[in-house]
Amino acid sequence: MPMVSMRQLLDEAAKGGYGVGAFNVNNMEQIQAIMEAARETKSPVVIQASRGARAYSNDRFLYHLMLAATEVYPEIPVALHLDHGNSVETCKSAIEMGFTSVMMDGSLMPDGKTPSTFDYNVKATREVVEMAHAKGVTVEGEIGVLGGIEDGHGAGVDALSHVTDPEQAEEFVKQTGLDALAIAIGTSHGAYKFTRKPTGEVLKMDRLIEIHNRLKTTHLVMHGSSSVPQDLQDIINKYGGKLRPTFGVPVEEIQLGIKNGVRKVNVDTDNRLAMTGAIRKVLMETPEKFDPRDYLKPAREAMKKVVALRMTQFGQAGHAGDYQPIPISEMAKKYAAGKL
Ligand SMILES: [Zn+2]
Repeated sequence: MPMVSMRQLLDEAAKGGYGVGAFNVNNMEQIQAIMEAARETKSPVVIQASRGARAYSNDRFLYHLMLAATEVYPEIPVALHLDHGNSVETCKSAIEMGFTSVMMDGSLMPDGKTPSTFDYNVKATREVVEMAHAKGVTVEGEIGVLGGIEDGHGAGVDALSHVTDPEQAEEFVKQTGLDALAIAIGTSHGAYKFTRKPTGEVLKMDRLIEIHNRLKTTHLVMHGSSSVPQDLQDIINKYGGKLRPTFGVPVEEIQLGIKNGVRKVNVDTDNRLAMTGAIRKVLMETPEKFDPRDYLKPAREAMKKVVALRMTQFGQAGHAGDYQPIPISEMAKKYAAGKL
């Protein structure tokens, strides 16, 4: 099946009451790990590339790897999403490349660092919505500022300093007409999210529920939602790594989010940890090896395991065959007719 719009995946997830993992990729092995996990668990899935990933891989390579994925895994509905587009131009280039979904992160200025104003965010997001919907492409926006820095993108602010204001979120959705809304509830990008298992003091699930109650039909997105499991940290440190003790977002909190309107869950760090741990293990245990396949194969397998587990935990497992893909040209007609 062709790549589908993220909007269709999330609409179906809302109907089924589950969440869809959105996993970041930079290369072939990561795409294969996700698609294998999707096949094993029969899951629809979002594959996303940040600006950093597009630059690292040259996004023509990524795009064609994704086409290969749709040929090899024809039973899996998959959307290709731009993670944290920093400007209207960046989103435009992704749409032209063939991405079926884009994030316009207007919570920050185009430098990807400086928190913006509400008016700037509305204007930039609105512009992307008009451009994207004309082609049937999905748009995710963000209100509030996440903590940490991801691929050079992020204000690096304290995760609690710009938590999303529910009233502003409601106004933002109304004024932009977006498809999915990323909110800031105390999570941050990267491995170092929390110094202990998070409580309601630092992870504002109450705020998420408040936003959902105002925006019942808006698909919410949780960024920075790796759980940073202890066992994956341990493997890295056992084989010569030096991770400091850290805590991520517990899976049960994500599941609470999914019960309250969260339809897209962004996971990157857990997969990075899994791959790096597997590579370290091979290199430490068998230092005579030098064929990249000897460590990339276990790395791909380790990532696949994490992704398959998350797919089961988020509830998307078993739903790949629920629906027929709607071509994005049809989605464009639906937007034009005001049906979405
Ligand atoms: Zn993010």
